[in-house]
Amino acid sequence: MSTLNISGLSKTYSNGVQALNNISLEIPKGVFGLLGPNGAGKSTLMRILATLQEADQGSISFGDLDVLKQKEELRKSLGYLPQSFGLYPKISAEVLLSHLAVLKGISNKFKRKEMVKALLEKTNLYAHRKKNLGGFSGGMKQRFGIAQALLSNPKILIVDEPTAGLDPLERNRFHNLLSEIGETAIVILSTHIVDDVKELCTNTAIINQGEVLLKGNPLELIKEIEGKIFRKTILKKEVKDYKKNYKVISEKLLSGKPVIHILNEDHPGNGFSPVQAELSDVYFSQIFDH
Ligand code: ADP
Repeated sequence: MSTLNISGLSKTYSNGVQALNNISLEIPKGVFGLLGPNGAGKSTLMRILATLQEADQGSISFGDLDVLKQKEELRKSLGYLPQSFGLYPKISAEVLLSHLAVLKGISNKFKRKEMVKALLEKTNLYAHRKKNLGGFSGGMKQRFGIAQALLSNPKILIVDEPTAGLDPLERNRFHNLLSEIGETAIVILSTHIVDDVKELCTNTAIINQGEVLLKGNPLELIKEIEGKIFRKTILKKEVKDYKKNYKVISEKLLSGKPVIHILNEDHPGNGFSPVQAELSDVYFSQIFDH
């Protein structure tokens, strides 16, 4: 299967905000995590990939397709789940999905019925098929969003911040669904949640302020900082001093006390203890630098 190749992509909005600055990424089959804080440029990149927005510069290819020029062609291979989408609250999942299938050009009634059933089963919504969408939970809505995105049997599925607001059980179920889709398609997931990437992605890119800071396989990225992360529980009033003297990459509360992680080439002594590096350490050490 073809790889999606993004090269030198830039985008500045008319208000002068440069949302993307020379982004280059190779995205193979599997679940790819686009990880970055709010405002990093993730949605802008997703919308350009979904052919809903123009880039100023750069190119995107998928096999023989020039994505930025052959939009109609790409759309045939594309499924997109935007950050928020409206649903008709008084229609059942089954009726809306069937209706959307008609709009997708699936005119054969028998084929359509089979497809709707298969997608509702795949997204664990079959038992709720007669329920009105207005009564769906956040996770069910997201899974319905995936069901509609899969109507065209896409080779590329783009999902923008899909796990925000889901409870742990729903999030887990959603991860399993994406992982399954990633076995046969390119799934691009944008998120600010490091654990989404840790649990799900074979490849990731950390982006901030429109730039790619780091890319690769999450486990390999962790290896690069292995042995360089140290932890210490300190007092609240000491936080400032520690930040001055060490490269503090994260600060969390544990039972109300600040626990800091620092990045250091060697053991710093001074009561620090070494910890197993995590993807969150990779992420925060990158974001810290900027
Ligand atoms: P993310 O999805 O990572 O939160 P976005 O792509 O939404 O990031 O935004 C990147 C930057 O571009 C932000 O500074 C945001 O305020 C700005 N931005 C996004 N959309 C627009 C727009 N339509 N007009 C002007 N600025 C925008």
